[in-house]
Amino acid sequence: MAKTRIGILGYGNLGRGVELACRQNDDMEFAALFTRRDPATVKPLTDGVAVYAAADLAAHADDVDVLVLCGGSASDLPEQTPACASLFNVVDSFDTHANIPVHFANVDVEAKAGGKVAVISAGWDPGMFSLARLYANSILPEGRDYTFWGRGVSQGHSDAIRRIEGVADARQYTVPVPEALDAVRAGENPELTTRQKHTRECYVVAKEGADKAAIEKAIVEMPNYFSDYDTTVTFVTQEELDRDHAGIPHGGSVIRSGVTGAGGEHAHVVEYSLKLDSNPEFTGSVLVACARAAHRLAREGQTGCKTLFDIPPAYLSPLAAEELRASML
Ligand code: NDP
Repeated sequence: MAKTRIGILGYGNLGRGVELACRQNDDMEFAALFTRRDPATVKPLTDGVAVYAAADLAAHADDVDVLVLCGGSASDLPEQTPACASLFNVVDSFDTHANIPVHFANVDVEAKAGGKVAVISAGWDPGMFSLARLYANSILPEGRDYTFWGRGVSQGHSDAIRRIEGVADARQYTVPVPEALDAVRAGENPELTTRQKHTRECYVVAKEGADKAAIEKAIVEMPNYFSDYDTTVTFVTQEELDRDHAGIPHGGSVIRSGVTGAGGEHAHVVEYSLKLDSNPEFTGSVLVACARAAHRLAREGQTGCKTLFDIPPAYLSPLAAEELRASML
């Protein structure tokens, strides 16, 4: 069967992660890169891939089977995904959880109008963690959910800080509170507020002459991102940031602690855990598996917006259904 031709819109960390994931999947071909910057200044790792201006996307609608959107969730994807969804089958990693229903509705209208499939909020959270929550909740209706992230760099939160006026660069670490994690794993079912589960550490490079107090206030009071957490802001130089905070590791655990039995006498702890050396490379790998599924759904004639909840698990795999039954059931 012909390869799935992948287009990438936005070439930052995640864009490179998607490119590298295409190389590991024989049924995928990285066909075109689109950027808002001058295409002549953006060089993909892969030789011979065409680089186009994002403004010319519509002219290349027939060149790719699935466009993977790799912009930031704070302000790129809310505009880019609906704008592209009537022209291309698309996949994005939109991770502002509170705004997913609105994003879904905006994308769904466009995808249906264009007869395309759009998979939104793929990645690991939202994404694989969401699936872990859904499976555990379906199996253990009586119980409690916990999600712990980190210690790791949150790209979405780092991106949100970088968009504040006066900020040159930033890294944000999400850190689980160890006592809270231990209590959950021990099946103690503690009642934990958002603040009791994680802290957020921000390392920020301010532009020359920028108002650092105003930057710190903008960070700690930012709704959805920081206002519900104990957040520390440390200003560093660009050299210090590059030297001490260059990696992009992440991970975490989704845990459901539930009971079964006539009187709830049997306790069960279900945990799905990720330890990621490179968050964007892992996320890019999820997006490519979802691009495979999106292409399959589109070939079946489906249209509209989907999330990982709507994708049959076998559609993510390059293996045929009978091979999956023989090797993974
Ligand atoms: P980056 O900041 O690296 O890239 C975002 C965009 O910025 C790029 O698409 C690119 O667009 C632009 N850009 C990149 N480099 C430059 C540059 N040197 N100069 C100017 N512009 C540049 O973000 P990430 O790739 O790390 O993350 C993207 C999003 O992925 C995050 O906002 C987050 O929401 C999401 N994410 C989701 C996860 C999930 O589990 N669902 C997990 C991890 C991330 P262009 O080429 O058009 O300029």
